[in-house]
Amino acid sequence: MSRFFSEKYKSLVPYTPGEQPKGMKYIKLNTNESPFPPSKKAVEYAAREAEKYQLYSDPECAELVNAAAQFFGVEKDEILFTNGSDEILNFAFMAYCDKDHPAYFPNITYGFYSVFAEINNIPYTEIPLKSDFTIDISDYEGKKGAIFIANPNAPTGIALALSEVERIIKANTQSVVVIDEAYVDFGAESAVPLIKKYDNLLVTQTFSKSRSMAGARLGFGIGSKELIRDLNTIKYSTNPYNVNRTTMAAGVGALEDNDYTLENCKRIIATRERAAKALRELGFEMTESSANFIFARHPKVSGEKIYLDLKNAGILVRHFNKPDLCEYNRITVGTDEQMDALILAITEIIGENK
Ligand code: PMP
Repeated sequence: MSRFFSEKYKSLVPYTPGEQPKGMKYIKLNTNESPFPPSKKAVEYAAREAEKYQLYSDPECAELVNAAAQFFGVEKDEILFTNGSDEILNFAFMAYCDKDHPAYFPNITYGFYSVFAEINNIPYTEIPLKSDFTIDISDYEGKKGAIFIANPNAPTGIALALSEVERIIKANTQSVVVIDEAYVDFGAESAVPLIKKYDNLLVTQTFSKSRSMAGARLGFGIGSKELIRDLNTIKYSTNPYNVNRTTMAAGVGALEDNDYTLENCKRIIATRERAAKALRELGFEMTESSANFIFARHPKVSGEKIYLDLKNAGILVRHFNKPDLCEYNRITVGTDEQMDALILAITEIIGENK
């Protein structure tokens, strides 16, 4: 740290992204990326758009907003695109929280929420999950601030039913409720239709997972036009050109090619179920995942050992060094071949440690 670093950031502990190895070729099951390439149409549109790089991108993202509004059945002023959904989540912390409006989220959830709260100097309460890692929705009533719920949750993969999400929204009319649907396409119900009914609901989604565009950085939020206006105020006060023109064009291509997305989701879900069954047969215990990852532990071999042995075998999974989570690993669902390699390696690890 330099001697110039502002006092207000000195104790900030940044979010730790999953490893992105440069040298050795790993089977990468650690950052919930899609194992499939993006839609050809997305790539084609992006390549064409790159020829106009001398021009700033459209701050209104008009073409993409039009396509997405139609796709999701919402108005154009009910949607806002950002640089990954991380950006809109940060905007929501900035827009709806302050010292009198704390943030509330589960104690086991996406690790970035606490970092967003910290960097924005926002007080926050982490509400414990039940011992089976599910959310007790009665813990989320009458809050005054903002509530952040990942649905499905991460890293557990457990989803709330839409009726449960609606109960949380209804029980917190004095708070904005942000439903982070980064993984919704792998088996949960989206709350997007509820935005017409509740002006305190903001739904965020991403093109990083089901649409295979993690490297393009494209996320968005859907909510009442008033909420979207607030978030635009933040956007235009930080970076009006937050979505670059190639990513914007790729986003349109991906929406036009939705059959490809649906097909990939179907494959990932089938592979997830197959891999989960194989892991259960090896003695693993796991949560019921509605996401593109499996959150599992073995009663006889520590989470850290499994993580390290897999790494030695050329397979990266995500291990969290936190007391509640350290016995688990979060394993992204890859292709069938990748999961076969994983099961084979894990079978050996378990065999050696019996
Ligand atoms: N929400 C959750 C729950 C996530 O796991 C992630 C990414 N890992 C994000 C949001 C952000 O994803 P992105 O910025 O790529 O859209």
